[in-house]
Amino acid sequence: MEIMRLPFLRPLTLATLIALAAFLFSQQLFAPQSAPGQAATPAAPKPEDTEVWEPVPAIVTPGATCTAPPSDAIVLFDGKNLDEWVSAQDHSPAKWVVHDGILTVSKEKGVGNIETKRSFKNYQLHIEWRIPENITGSDQARGNSGVFLASLGPGDDGYELQVLDSYNNKTYVNGQAGSIYKQGIPLVNANRKPGEWQTYDVVWTAPTFTDDGSLKTPAYVTVFFNGILVQNHFELKGQTLYIGKPFYKKYDSAPIKLQAHGDKSEPLSYRNIWIREIK
Ligand code: MG
Repeated sequence: MEIMRLPFLRPLTLATLIALAAFLFSQQLFAPQSAPGQAATPAAPKPEDTEVWEPVPAIVTPGATCTAPPSDAIVLFDGKNLDEWVSAQDHSPAKWVVHDGILTVSKEKGVGNIETKRSFKNYQLHIEWRIPENITGSDQARGNSGVFLASLGPGDDGYELQVLDSYNNKTYVNGQAGSIYKQGIPLVNANRKPGEWQTYDVVWTAPTFTDDGSLKTPAYVTVFFNGILVQNHFELKGQTLYIGKPFYKKYDSAPIKLQAHGDKSEPLSYRNIWIREIK
């Protein structure tokens, strides 16, 4: 070659060849090793990949205490009147007794159960109740009432969360306070003594139905009794019945009902009732 005849160029050429060889060698060693037809190695995951920014949850201002209604609650009884309630029998004005900021069951003949004017589907409910200190009776005839989580008729049709003095009062366990009547035994007995206020905090998931009325998804309920879990996402088998096996009856939304039980014990009282609908 002509270049070979120029001795001063020979070292440069040699250096160039060495540099080129080194470059090719480095490319083999450090370039990404992808087999033919294989995708390149994906980028390393980042924290941002799993962050969700929308939709932003609505702001709800809590009550002054955890038993006071939060800003988005519907207050069903605040100690003043029964404007939110009617007779479950005929939807006439509710005739239970409001006094001293509380609501006391009327056991007078013909008065009966009361229920909300409004209907609800899925919700969070807070309600407080107090068995009289001088309560008498035993078994189911001692401070019996009930919170029907969905009222499906004037009597005891619906789904009853039992109210009873179960502080020191033996009865069937699926009928004691905190039970889903004759279906769900409470996980523990969380009763306070007669004369003390007690709380129920309830999460109700209504059953759903197909167009032909058959059950699509069952009802579920979670209940905290005086802050203690007694029903944990309990699946109901249907309406709570005094006699017979439970069954479902189609409904969409329903009032909440309080029971005027026919036993002869001293009437109990309720206060501070509020609800938050769950969309
Ligand atoms: Mg009852």
